[in-house]
Amino acid sequence: MKVGFIGLGQMGGAMARNLLKAGHEVSVWNRSADKAAPLTEAGARAASSPADAAQGEVVMTMLADDRAVEAVVWGEDGIAAAPALHVSHSTIGVALAERLAAESRAGGYVSAPVFGRPPAAEAGKLFVVAAGEDAAIDRAQPLFDAIGQRTFRVGERAPAANLVKLSGNFMIMAAVEAMAEAMTLAERGGVARAALLEILTETLFGAPVYRTYGELLVRDEFRPAGFPAPLGLKDMTLADAAATAYRVPMPLLGIVRDHLRGTIAAEGEDIDWSAMALALRRGAGM
Ligand code: NAP
Repeated sequence: MKVGFIGLGQMGGAMARNLLKAGHEVSVWNRSADKAAPLTEAGARAASSPADAAQGEVVMTMLADDRAVEAVVWGEDGIAAAPALHVSHSTIGVALAERLAAESRAGGYVSAPVFGRPPAAEAGKLFVVAAGEDAAIDRAQPLFDAIGQRTFRVGERAPAANLVKLSGNFMIMAAVEAMAEAMTLAERGGVARAALLEILTETLFGAPVYRTYGELLVRDEFRPAGFPAPLGLKDMTLADAAATAYRVPMPLLGIVRDHLRGTIAAEGEDIDWSAMALALRRGAGM
């Protein structure tokens, strides 16, 4: 299929590569042009603008945040008037997804945020959460098969997929908060973090989120950041905006969002979001 890919960061670069591997004809565009080079060497075409990347059947975007998506869609040489179906994988707000769906033209729009960190993106093992018209998702399905291990469909209202993604990221943060507090308590009392994690993941807490993030917490593996804390803070802020719009109290969300703010202030922008464990340890005098 003739497909464009816009946003070649940690996630997007790996996703575009898997589209090429699956035999699709891929045009790539990135704000900083140097990130396109490894992909053009692997057989992609370098598009001259976002609009140029959106002349095929589908254009996929994987960008940092709402502002980046707005720039690529409605900015100079944006994809708004292009013929391709726009499939948005970025973690963006519910309100923006609503606007993208409402203002999409002939090509149509599908929200398709993903679960999985950069190693999962490289392995083509992402989980895709898709919402939009069935026929549009059907068209994009071969592309989802190239980047992911499974696609979940959550109906025709595009923002529903973004709500699932934001809810999921909130739950990851809540799990990290719980683990980091428990590990701090255990360590303070003389029990190694690794021992606590092994016992709990082999008994009651065998879920991937506890295993993946638990290992990061045990090894203090916060740099390089697989998921930078500023992106995590962005997601908690988007979840909060949705909670305000729907009038849903989320007290735990407020706690993890503030811990992320403090982590970025103390550790810098280039640290993984799970590093909020460091502040908890400091709080315990460790
Ligand atoms: P990243 O490596 O920081 O890449 C961000 C991309 O957005 C880059 O291509 C960047 O271009 C582009 N960008 C930023 N601002 C822009 C603007 N104003 N105009 C045009 N392009 C702009 O981030 P990532 O980790 O790939 O994450 C991408 C998205 O996936 C985010 O929404 C994130 O929340 C979500 N996500 C991430 C993970 C993860 O574990 N990393 C997992 C699931 C979902 P430049 O190269 O020019 O800066």
